[in-house]
Amino acid sequence: MSAAQWALVFACAALVASCTAALAWSRRSRTPAATALAVTMSGVAVWSAADVLLHGVGSDGVVEAYPPLLLASVGLVVVGTYVLARTVSDPSWRLGRRAALLLAVEPVLLVVTATLPATRDLVMSGLTPADGAGEGRVTFGPLFLAHTAYSYALVVVAYAHLVRRYRHAAGVFRRQIAVLLSSALVSSVGNVVSVGSQLDGSGIDVTPLFFLVTGLVDCWAIFRVGLLRMVPVAREQVVETVPDAVLVVDPGGVLIDCNPAATRMLRRLRPELGGDLVGRALTDVAGPRAVAVLDGTERRDGHRVAQVRPGLWLDVRDSAVSDPRGRPLGRILVVRDVSEQQERQAAIEALNARLAEQVEVIERLRAELAEEAVRDPLTGLHNRRHLDRALGADLASRPRTGRLSVLLVDVDHFKSVNDRLGHAAGDRVLTAVARTLAGAVREGDTAARLGGEEFVLVLPGAGREQALERAEQVRRAIAGQRQSLDGEDVGVTVSIGVAVCPADGASAPALLEAADRALYTAKATGRDRVVADPAAPVPAADVPAPAPAADDVAELVPGG
Ligand code: GH3
Ligand code: MG
Ligand code: MG
Repeated sequence: MSAAQWALVFACAALVASCTAALAWSRRSRTPAATALAVTMSGVAVWSAADVLLHGVGSDGVVEAYPPLLLASVGLVVVGTYVLARTVSDPSWRLGRRAALLLAVEPVLLVVTATLPATRDLVMSGLTPADGAGEGRVTFGPLFLAHTAYSYALVVVAYAHLVRRYRHAAGVFRRQIAVLLSSALVSSVGNVVSVGSQLDGSGIDVTPLFFLVTGLVDCWAIFRVGLLRMVPVAREQVVETVPDAVLVVDPGGVLIDCNPAATRMLRRLRPELGGDLVGRALTDVAGPRAVAVLDGTERRDGHRVAQVRPGLWLDVRDSAVSDPRGRPLGRILVVRDVSEQQERQAAIEALNARLAEQVEVIERLRAELAEEAVRDPLTGLHNRRHLDRALGADLASRPRTGRLSVLLVDVDHFKSVNDRLGHAAGDRVLTAVARTLAGAVREGDTAARLGGEEFVLVLPGAGREQALERAEQVRRAIAGQRQSLDGEDVGVTVSIGVAVCPADGASAPALLEAADRALYTAKATGRDRVVADPAAPVPAADVPAPAPAADDVAELVPGG
């Protein structure tokens, strides 16, 4: 190719590189990689432009200006490439002020050296633009070779970061790094070939053309595929900024990575810990007690929740990680401080317990009230209300239980007890009678006070004979009882009317009425007796007498 043709090629390269640099620069807010790419591409643009001047103009002034221009552009390309690779391999990496200054030292020194007439030959000499056959000439000085070695070293370091990242990356991110590494290979090989072919002092340096290709590929990867700015940044930042502590532990139990939240949590857990936490055993940084407590806690839905220190509750999610071949790489622990939730839950539980207690008290009171509502306050026996309900229920279930008997019990001449000894004494007599009746019932029976000195016993399953027998027992028991009232030995008798279902009636009112008829007969035939036949005739002479006068009581209350 002629010099003019080379000039044209480099002009095109300069144009494309400038446009790419401008594009990357305009998008620098999207990703730090864009700035690095803009620097690289501006280096390529300057490099190509210098070649345009060298091969297109080729004046003495250009030949003098070419080396510093070349070195400045190479410096931009190398630094840009380095920063780009570092940024991509670690999205949280930023070029610090000190590192930037250090990176600038070598190019600036070289540019100055190549500019000063006294030292410029140390960089390169004998530079001539491409001749008619497209052959330029140059002699590289020792500083140029040193500079080349330095540049390679820097680029190798950067690519080593990329390669390392590639090995640990997955999915889309891995593919992106693969694209960058392949494109880097293009420029590296191009440069090696180009510099190698020029070592004899002749030829044209076509490296900027290779870098142009690399830059365009990178540009496409960054802006068209658009993923560099998203995925890795998002992944890293998620781990860096989540409020949960994330700890990575190797198979030997050594903490190999942790996010800021984990550092804060560990420092809070063990304020006495100094120095770097990474690289130490987990038992050491978290404390043997916390580890033991968590190990001893049962895992539920993949979580362990335990109180590792008074008031400090941790929720730990533990997942094993392995490489693609299934070899264990360690564990990732995601730890959350759930002390507040636990505190709230404990408060709620305490509240619930109190509530349950109160409900129990209320339930007991309600039951007591309900019981009181069906009890007679004086004797403690069931009242009329309960009797009606119980008798109804017993009659309803009678087809299963067989016959049923009702005993109507009435204290004989009770009025005279009241009259002679007073109402309070009468109450005590009633209470004593009730106690005897209560003692006479068996399971399933009902003893109730109907009112005044009248009581009822319901005996489900009892036929007439059984009822008669039990009524006799009751009568005898009451008649045999004595009570000391006001220093007086008092006893009462009862008369009992018996009615049997179904012979004497099938409903509660019919049965009570039949029992009342039998009771009437018992009263009429002399009291202190049991009549089990409601239909029994009452002898005319035995029509029940009115209650005796107070004077007669002694006769009615034997021993009184
Ligand atoms: P009978 O042998 O004919 O049954 O005669 P009685 O005196 O027992 O019957 P009467 O119906 O004439 O009297 C019942 C008395 O019972 C009248 C009433 O003052 C009394 N009495 C009713 N309820 C109570 C009570 O709760 N306490 C007391 N001490 N007396 C009561
Ligand atoms: Mg009576
Ligand atoms: Mg009565």
